[in-house]
Amino acid sequence: MDRMTGTPARKVLLAAPRGYCAGVDRAVIAVEKALEQYGAPVYVRHEIVHNKYVVKTLEQKGAIFVDETEEVPEGNIVIFSAHGVAPVVHEEAARGKLATIDATCPLVTKVHKEAIRFANDDYDILLIGHEGHEEVIGTSGEAPDHITLVDGPEDVANVEVRDPDKVVWLSQTTLSVDETMETVDALKGRFPNLLSPPSDDICYATQNRQIAVKQMGAEADLVIVVGSKNSSNSVRLVEVALGAGARDAHLVDYAEEIDEAWLEGVSTVGVTSGASVPEILVQGVLEWLAQRGYADVEVVKAAEESITFSLPKELRRDLRAEAAGLVASSEG
Ligand code: SF4
Repeated sequence: MDRMTGTPARKVLLAAPRGYCAGVDRAVIAVEKALEQYGAPVYVRHEIVHNKYVVKTLEQKGAIFVDETEEVPEGNIVIFSAHGVAPVVHEEAARGKLATIDATCPLVTKVHKEAIRFANDDYDILLIGHEGHEEVIGTSGEAPDHITLVDGPEDVANVEVRDPDKVVWLSQTTLSVDETMETVDALKGRFPNLLSPPSDDICYATQNRQIAVKQMGAEADLVIVVGSKNSSNSVRLVEVALGAGARDAHLVDYAEEIDEAWLEGVSTVGVTSGASVPEILVQGVLEWLAQRGYADVEVVKAAEESITFSLPKELRRDLRAEAAGLVASSEG
């Protein structure tokens, strides 16, 4: 309570970590470096990461986003997004005589490798994930005959396998940890010998952002998650905030999308952002809130993150070659 005005004190709880993960950072830098190295245009298959602002900014620098590999004119460079692609997409690129840069997050590649290994051992693989998500399409494409998608606990009853004693589950990297475990429990109810992946498929960044939002959820009247609607991990943060006790939670791409009405009777606002969101957008939200009396910001720290990934190997090779004077850059 503010002693001068008698109104409830207004504050912001700011999640840490939030925003860019190592896989997104690498993918965005890969497009920027490719533009510098080869010159515009550089083609990118699908949104490099699921964020409107990032995609718009890269378009302004000369990136062209396409839905299908066939849209890229022969002989050009195409970058594959952080969500990963099925082997068939590499084949399409080879047919179109395209040079490729694979910006698939190494943590998604890890799941692809698990799928290949279990398929080679003739397991039925139950892939927990959201139907239609690019990552799920890419992973499923590694072993289409062995993989069945399980889209949440309610899907478990429909699952059919060849041998209930030779089944393993894997998952999309950006799911809700709690809901995934619910699905796994339901699967174990049907298949008691269900094998688990050798290590977590839900990535460190998704998990840490969910832990932070859980810590603030119970105290927040409103949680604002900065992120795009097609960003799986951002959408999950809204659900996790509500599950943790937040009275209200919304996903916004920009501060301008916040509705003043959401602030009615709100003293504590939680703020976080998905793994594909640049910090500049969160700062915009903090400024918007400060202008409305929510200037007091307290950081809720759930974890330290220090993971980084090196650039895609094709790009490293060309950057090294250029440094050694072997290939021409965009400046000739
Ligand atoms: S959210 Fe996780 S899996 Fe996805 S790009 Fe980031 S680190 Fe990689």
